[in-house]
Amino acid sequence: MGTLLIQGAQIVTMNDKQNVFTGDLLIKDDRIVGIGEDLSSEGADRVIDARGKVLLPGFIQTHVHLCQTLFRGRADDLELLDWLQQRIWPLEAAHDEESIYYSAMLGIGELISSGTTTLLDMETVHHTDSAFHAIAETGIRAVSGKVMMDHGIEVPAPLQEKTERSLEESVRLLEKWNGYDSGRIQYAFCPRFVVSCTEELLIGVRDLSEQYQVRVHTHASENRGEIEVVERERGMRNIVYLDHIGLAKPNLILAHCIWLDEQEKTIIRERGVKMTHCPGSNLKLASGIAEVPDMLSRHVPVGLGADGAPCNNNLDMFQEMRLAALIQKPIHGPTAMDARTVLRMATMGGAEVLGMEEEIGSLEVGKKADLVLLDLYDFHTFPSHEVDVYSRIVYSATRGNVDTVIIDGKIVMENRVVRTLDRNIVLREADRSIARLVKRV
Ligand SMILES: [Zn+2]
Repeated sequence: MGTLLIQGAQIVTMNDKQNVFTGDLLIKDDRIVGIGEDLSSEGADRVIDARGKVLLPGFIQTHVHLCQTLFRGRADDLELLDWLQQRIWPLEAAHDEESIYYSAMLGIGELISSGTTTLLDMETVHHTDSAFHAIAETGIRAVSGKVMMDHGIEVPAPLQEKTERSLEESVRLLEKWNGYDSGRIQYAFCPRFVVSCTEELLIGVRDLSEQYQVRVHTHASENRGEIEVVERERGMRNIVYLDHIGLAKPNLILAHCIWLDEQEKTIIRERGVKMTHCPGSNLKLASGIAEVPDMLSRHVPVGLGADGAPCNNNLDMFQEMRLAALIQKPIHGPTAMDARTVLRMATMGGAEVLGMEEEIGSLEVGKKADLVLLDLYDFHTFPSHEVDVYSRIVYSATRGNVDTVIIDGKIVMENRVVRTLDRNIVLREADRSIARLVKRV
């Protein structure tokens, strides 16, 4: 791959000192090997002139469902359990190998072109190899896994799994994909949520995730109806139950965590559990507003994610950052969730959620070269004179400002064009796939 020098950018490092300066960044193969005010271009295989542009770590989305991208616009204006039972589960049940592939390609195209370089994904029950193929081809960094569900009401027959089979298929996928491309792809066990999992399945996940040293990615306490079902069936509150069966550990990543009581917050903190905040999805499904400032003040790692396309309806980190900041302000005042805190959640916060803070999340020598170059020379991001760069990125910038994206040292988007997929083919095949799929619902 050789060396790549990015010259003259305003570098927003997101390191511990929150250093921001104008300078250069040198990449060798997949890693950052130099950052400084005036690095020599001698010996560099390629130089990108980034004067006037802003360089920052790629965004890390810690909760996405690539398998749902094809369902964008088909499940609006519903609450979570109706949204799942009436629309999403029947649609997921109708997927085929090719539709999963193009659903992932469509989602990854949107993610890369809006500056996301790493995602934590949750697929559906079947055809998960197709999503991994899309991830492998496009060059995005991902932790993903098949969804697991062996319990629950109104689950369509194709999504109803036998406990043993669900665990076996997960292990098969894990052994095939975990560590692919020098660790760019990793596997996570993805029990959907307690409502759709037997205790036997969850305990199986606990033991296997320990055995294979991988993460567990699930939804928790997103909706009041959901936590009522858990209390009725398991006799305790959701997070208390997860702790009771031994799942509440540092490798557990919980999406949403809106409806928590004090005991549950304490469990999350004490067990080292990670949390993902999805403000766009939480508002659109009328789920509620997570107590993110409180969780951050307890030093719980919190990342950001768009969730699936049918509950958002975009996979755009700029929108999630803006919402994450704005929705707390009427409750906690204007200084809650300032721009710098939000950008940290979108980068280092996400890295901490994934346990990858030594590898990604900031621009530092030795880390993976996952970065985004923004061109803020535009009406909506000017004036620039003495304007705080965090404010420009979080409150003013949009996906349209993303110019270049580099993942694992490879340029995957340049001059606003994603290079690792063919946009026209993906758009055409996405439409063909959903047309075929809805005939089976
Ligand atoms: Zn979700």
